[in-house]
Amino acid sequence: MADSENLENTYYDMVPSDLRTTTTKHNRAEKAGGAVVALTFDDGPGANTAALLSILEREAVPATFFLIGEHAARHPELVKAICARGHQVENHTWSHPHLPTLTPGQIRDEIAKADDAIMRGGAPRPQFVRPPYGEYDSRVVAALANSGKGGVMWTIDSEDWTMQANERTIERATSAQPGFVILLHDFVPQTITAVPEIIRRLRNRGFSFATVGDLVACNPSVCSGSMIFSQSDCGRQN
Ligand SMILES: [Zn+2]
Repeated sequence: MADSENLENTYYDMVPSDLRTTTTKHNRAEKAGGAVVALTFDDGPGANTAALLSILEREAVPATFFLIGEHAARHPELVKAICARGHQVENHTWSHPHLPTLTPGQIRDEIAKADDAIMRGGAPRPQFVRPPYGEYDSRVVAALANSGKGGVMWTIDSEDWTMQANERTIERATSAQPGFVILLHDFVPQTITAVPEIIRRLRNRGFSFATVGDLVACNPSVCSGSMIFSQSDCGRQN
């Protein structure tokens, strides 16, 4: 678990003060004590992101968005909206390639271009990269370490990307244990519909919600080059 010193230095402290909202403060309050999980949404921002933000705001749930750089460049207003509501904005590469098929220079460019697009939307510099398709090798890990970032995987794949029935997605997502990172996608319309029920069932099981950054409470100098699958993985080298 994080010590109090780490908790004082959270992602939200890096969000420009004019973008902070009351939701941000509420988010910080919820993570105090008890079992915590992190909802993560990949591949945005896009057509469903605003609807998802409304649900998360109503539920006062913080989440982590792994944005595709190309999409962030197309929708800087959505990057700003995600950030303004106290969510964490992180890097899912520029064009969503299979990173192990690229040269080290291409991997570096994929990460750097996405950083630039996300920061142009007003978000702090990303601390984490989620490799597309969860694919990484030693060169990807080296590129992450060189860019001072950690890699974030997941503990549960909701498999919402299969576009199958909602109930299966909900059951998978709500089978979480404390400290789990849950993979979802906001481009899937069924996922947006499922989110309120996922939140309700997890709360009924005693969980509260944190961003990935707050879940692992990672110092960038420690998590750089780590591959994080759940709360306990900060600093694990691969
Ligand atoms: Zn993806």
